[in-house]
Amino acid sequence: MRIILLGAPGAGKGTVAKLLTKLDGSVQISTGDILRGAVKAGTPLGKEAQGYMDRGDLVPDSLIMGIMEQRLQEPDCQKGFLLDGFPRTIPQADALDELLKKLTITLDLVANIDVPRDVILDRLTTRRTCSNPDCQEIYNVKSNPPAAGNKCKKCGSEVIQRADETEEAIGKRLDVYNEKTAPLIGYYEKTGLLLTIQEASSDGVVNAIKQGIAAKK
Ligand code: ADP
Ligand code: ZN
Repeated sequence: MRIILLGAPGAGKGTVAKLLTKLDGSVQISTGDILRGAVKAGTPLGKEAQGYMDRGDLVPDSLIMGIMEQRLQEPDCQKGFLLDGFPRTIPQADALDELLKKLTITLDLVANIDVPRDVILDRLTTRRTCSNPDCQEIYNVKSNPPAAGNKCKKCGSEVIQRADETEEAIGKRLDVYNEKTAPLIGYYEKTGLLLTIQEASSDGVVNAIKQGIAAKK
């Protein structure tokens, strides 16, 4: 499948994407994971992106499009892809549209995961992430805590609170979402690809996406 996952930070895009990869071999492409990997590795991209990310600001569109142009042409995308955290702005959506035309790829669905603000705030402040850039497994101090000593159950690395998950940065990220990303809902509604999903569980979201794709075929 070829889909875009839209939704505020904490809406569960990453969790849903990981579940969807198990269905048909589609790959998850998370621009946030790619950027955090680059920051950790100290690459030029990471050095440029870090300040924006720590503040909860968006990284410039040109950097993101450079990443995505390369990523979408890698062989593992042949079976399909789940775009998680991209596009985030109208200019990115326009550039993606051009890029997909160039690569003769069509999208199946844009899933808008719509979660109430109080649920989002609670999730983000309790979220923890594996510090290993190749793993980035997500935990929750309440519902899904890491192993003893704050270790990742998958790879054993330390599980941390992201720099952009302090209360101040979270508020900023939600504001940025409302201002820059929420307009994409109307943008994709016009294309007929949008499906808005209000399901409390990730499994519920996954089922709605499966049905949504089947209905559009
Ligand atoms: P979340 O969706 O939980 O906010 P992500 O992991 O998707 O977190 O992104 C973390 C940070 O990486 C963002 O706050 C932003 O600084 C940067 N980022 C990720 N994707 C994009 C994008 N498509 N455009 C601009 N910045 C991005
Ligand atoms: Zn891990």
